[in-house]
Amino acid sequence: MESRLNKREIKGGFNARIYNRFIDIQEDNPAIEYYLAKAHQYPLIDPQASCIFCQIANQERKADIIASFKHCFVIKDQFPVSNGHLLIIPHEHTLSWFTASEKVRLDIMQALSLMKARLDEEYKPDGYNIGANCGEFAGQTVMHLHVHLIPRYEGDMENPKGGVRGVIPEKQKY
Ligand code: AMP
Ligand code: ZN
Repeated sequence: MESRLNKREIKGGFNARIYNRFIDIQEDNPAIEYYLAKAHQYPLIDPQASCIFCQIANQERKADIIASFKHCFVIKDQFPVSNGHLLIIPHEHTLSWFTASEKVRLDIMQALSLMKARLDEEYKPDGYNIGANCGEFAGQTVMHLHVHLIPRYEGDMENPKGGVRGVIPEKQKY
């Protein structure tokens, strides 16, 4: 009993239940399905609470949203690879291109074309790379789908041959 009281002293809690604002767990943890299936019993479960792109979508985090579409919005990448580098992000949380619904993917594709036209006007680039990192081992760091639209400029690297093959730098040239 005493150790339980001590633990509560340190970690906090209510009489009826302990409330953790955030927990980090693997995406395929079977507990997720268990709790979400009974979400009505766990009203505080909010899988999006710690996702920065959800926070931007919900306006809980400040960001300059430069365009908004039915299912997605656009921000400038905070560490741009090139001038004009944009991220196209669905309003609703989904892990990757492959978990997104068809309607979200179509909306992102339309947004890509419209934003490309806007970048053409503003930056007059010489080419583009479009890319999404799908999964930790493909380099994804924000686990909420975002498609990079990266304008490219003549001379921005010595030999651009291979483009997105550069995800594995020594395999870029062939
Ligand atoms: P990745 O998941 O590998 O596609 O990387 C996440 C991308 O999101 C990086 O290019 C970051 O610079 C960008 N990024 C992360 N947080 C923000 C933010 N708050 N605003 C704009 N861009 C961001
Ligand atoms: Zn999210």
